[in-house]
Amino acid sequence: MIELNNVSKTYTNGSQVVHALKNANLHIPKGAIHGVIGLSGAGKSTLIRCVNLLERPTEGSVMVDGQDITRLSAAQLNQARHRIGMIFQHFNLLTTRNVFDNVAFPLELTGQSKQAIKERVEPLLKLVGLADKASQFPAQLSGGQKQRVAIARALANEPAVLLCDEATSALDPQTTTSILELLRDINQTLGITILLITHEMEVVKSICHRVSLISAGELVEDAEVGDFFTAP
Ligand code: ADP
Ligand code: ADP
Repeated sequence: MIELNNVSKTYTNGSQVVHALKNANLHIPKGAIHGVIGLSGAGKSTLIRCVNLLERPTEGSVMVDGQDITRLSAAQLNQARHRIGMIFQHFNLLTTRNVFDNVAFPLELTGQSKQAIKERVEPLLKLVGLADKASQFPAQLSGGQKQRVAIARALANEPAVLLCDEATSALDPQTTTSILELLRDINQTLGITILLITHEMEVVKSICHRVSLISAGELVEDAEVGDFFTAP
């Protein structure tokens, strides 16, 4: 479902050259939950930004749902991005919109009718356990509730994959557990493929099927979670 083939990303700031990703290869099958773990600066964000095409790789190809997303026109790219949901560490909600309107936002962008939006948003809010919070604003919600809104929004256009960028790093341990349970439910009930990046072992241990370790821009290991955490 997600495939990185020999992906490299180099940033050039004047005379400074940073090899943020070096020849990365990764194959994630449909329905998997795959974690990429690494220290700060290892290249996790760069990797995930190459999959949702916030960054274009310097070299290599990125396949999502059978399509090479590095070779698309601007219009095709917008289309492809709708097939990719993303959630972030700091939720990135629209502060001037209430919960319902945050989840409705991507549906408005794809030109759906008011009625279609209502029919999509209501079950999504139910799915994430926020049916009674539709008219609240982000500032009135806890961190965990904000991330639930962000998850509902990410699912609005029925993406094939969900990318999670340090999605629980700003949450306390108890809230982290409940958000991870929600992600596991969504994976199981919707069959959605999840790629998550994190610096937290516990996140990987609790929901990932496989895990890759990233270090200085290189994917150095790819293993079943059980094998990864077993001492040699
Ligand atoms: P992580 O998410 O694991 O913390 P990043 O992907 O953010 O790592 O960063 C990997 C490396 O690339 C770091 O050395 C970082 O400073 C550098 N980097 C990331 N984004 C940029 C950018 N836009 N311009 C220049 N260097 C960048
Ligand atoms: P995180 O690792 O949590 O994603 P960072 O604080 O490392 O966040 O990076 C935030 C933003 O700054 C990202 O968009 C990243 O690409 C960019 N960035 C990171 N390092 C650099 C850098 N050395 N030069 C320019 N931009 C950078």
